[in-house]
Amino acid sequence: MRLPGQRIETVRRRAKYLLLDTQAGSALLHLGMSGSLRVLPADAPVRAHDHVDIVLDDGHALRFHDSRRFGCLLWQAAGACHPLLAGLGPEPLSEAFDGDYLFQRSRGRKVPVKSFLMDQAVVVGVGNIYAAEALFLAGIAPLRPAGQVSRARYAALAEAAQSILAHAIERGGTTLRDFIHPDGAPGYFAQELSVYGRAGRPCPRCGRPLKSARIGQRATVWCPRCQH
Ligand SMILES: [Zn+2]
Repeated sequence: MRLPGQRIETVRRRAKYLLLDTQAGSALLHLGMSGSLRVLPADAPVRAHDHVDIVLDDGHALRFHDSRRFGCLLWQAAGACHPLLAGLGPEPLSEAFDGDYLFQRSRGRKVPVKSFLMDQAVVVGVGNIYAAEALFLAGIAPLRPAGQVSRARYAALAEAAQSILAHAIERGGTTLRDFIHPDGAPGYFAQELSVYGRAGRPCPRCGRPLKSARIGQRATVWCPRCQH
């Protein structure tokens, strides 16, 4: 870690990592499940699970707190790309992500379109809940081979994923603020989910029972009538 003495030029996010960029390189910070980074007076008393202070020259500190210890702080030298960031697909809310991109990347791929959409090498940050919801909104069956989805339908899928993510961010996410239920039941945004967690219940569009299966170890729910 060569952070001491450096000036933090920019603060960015890439996938689930925060990057504090300096001329020597970047500090890479992952907040894990429930970690936090706060700006405090550097002499604020240290609490349990406060792991790292990045002390600034104005008397404040960036304090990394992580009670579950799933987070981490790593270093990426200037001009290098940390292995954890290498090979990641575009951000879903960036311009690089659209239907044409998904169409190109999926040609010849036999994996289920849901697994394809959740592959971090294809696009980052589309987790299980959002993939299931986006596929429902776009009317695409999650088990359909990725290479057999048309360009027009990928355009609908990219748009669906973007609108769902943007809306979920606005609503505070599905799990972040109140991730308290032992069964991992999601939070605020969950009340608006169409298919995720609703196996056997009526499809919000056609009323028929929603189906469920495991795709790539992940529970998936969809409507066999509305999604094909
Ligand atoms: Zn339906």
